[in-house]
Amino acid sequence: MWERIIIKYHNKYVFRRIDTGRIKINKMALLTMSKFIQLSPDATEAGGVLLGRFILDSDDIVIDNVIIPHKKDRRSRHCFIRDKHSHHSEIVRYWKESNGTCNYLGEWHTHPESLPEPSPKDICNWKRILRQAVFDSESLFFIILGTKQLKAWEGLRESLEIKLLATEI
Ligand SMILES: [Zn+2]
Repeated sequence: MWERIIIKYHNKYVFRRIDTGRIKINKMALLTMSKFIQLSPDATEAGGVLLGRFILDSDDIVIDNVIIPHKKDRRSRHCFIRDKHSHHSEIVRYWKESNGTCNYLGEWHTHPESLPEPSPKDICNWKRILRQAVFDSESLFFIILGTKQLKAWEGLRESLEIKLLATEI
């Protein structure tokens, strides 16, 4: 099923960042997240962490990998709360295995709606992450996978501004 979704998503996984640069979701990361798209009426929300690289001498970023739901996460039809500790140990593991090149870039989750929009709770949660998370760059990325579309937002650490990103044409 998700293979068909992937075809629909094709060419839509490079986004223009707020200022300069682009963010690309690699196919592997996209395929992994796609498996959790809430296509069936009883599918619960899923989510996790975005991991990837800052491309040298540019403002480009690549999402190479994603952490998938852990059994300790709390999941329902309209809610996903990830278990901080298990995801954190996964981030540390990836970081060590990549010799420090695999960075925490943000968060992803699914919604049971075709064109996903962040809920007030999502925005609140993203701002909290921007304030509290330990990360190297000036911004973080947030992805929501609806049943027909994937959307990405960039959040700025300084201003806590969150903007929907346009796909690259
Ligand atoms: Zn949400």
